[in-house]
Amino acid sequence: MPLGVSRAFRSPPGVPELPEVETVRRGLEKVLPGRRAEKVKVSGRRTVRRQDPRELVARLERRRFGPPERRGKFLSIPLDDGQVLVVHLRMSGQLAWVERPRELAAPKHTHVVVELDDLSELRFTDPRTFGEWFVTDDVRPDGLPAIFDALGPDPVAEGLSAAQLREILAKRRSPLKSVLTDQRAIAGIGSIYADEICFAAAVRPDRQSASITPEEARRLAGRTRSVLRAAVRARGSSLRDASYRDLLGEPGDYQAQHCVYDRAGEDCPRCGGTVARVRFGARTAFCCPDCQR
Ligand SMILES: [Zn+2]
Repeated sequence: MPLGVSRAFRSPPGVPELPEVETVRRGLEKVLPGRRAEKVKVSGRRTVRRQDPRELVARLERRRFGPPERRGKFLSIPLDDGQVLVVHLRMSGQLAWVERPRELAAPKHTHVVVELDDLSELRFTDPRTFGEWFVTDDVRPDGLPAIFDALGPDPVAEGLSAAQLREILAKRRSPLKSVLTDQRAIAGIGSIYADEICFAAAVRPDRQSASITPEEARRLAGRTRSVLRAAVRARGSSLRDASYRDLLGEPGDYQAQHCVYDRAGEDCPRCGGTVARVRFGARTAFCCPDCQR
């Protein structure tokens, strides 16, 4: 089965990022393990595109789910026959668990519906249709899909040491933010958390990665872990477009703690300077030019 790995890993960064996907995973962990997929309906044309939608349905129906895992922005849900279901929300994908589906019609842009054996439903909606589902039997000894080999370390699930980050940064000739958001370098960070991590570490996101000193790399590694963990505790960030919701439809709370992301013109919470939107190449980042070096 051609999996088209590289395209997915080069995808533009965006919500949902690691904390949002982890929040969805924690929701799934409460309702999915032990449940069987009785009936699977795929209606969108794009959501299942690495395999024939009929193949996904055949591989999924009558299978029982195990405990969901996450690496970076990918969910991996083991099935009782050794396969795994991989779900990637990308820009606007949302998973919703509905306990009494008869009382709540599926919203517009619902592309996959899984009827579970307790009569509840797992629904996948995705207005922009970048998200995707596939079932694979190409699985590593740790139970995760082989496609995850292409991902860098996940700072929350696997940790990220200063030495690891120093090596990742030294190898590349790109702006810091581009490396932090490259899923093949580090898994799970997108635009929001890259800006917040750089701010917390007091390093400019447009610095060349190879210029980062060992002391700065140590700060960046520590802040990467602490910012992402704090965002997981706050159940992720819901922006004004409201495209991220948890499994029960609730928004996250971390946006209230953003220091720089989408705050151009506001006061820097650390030094009282002014948060700016800076451009580098085709990308932008929010930072405080007064206290980030
Ligand atoms: Zn500042």
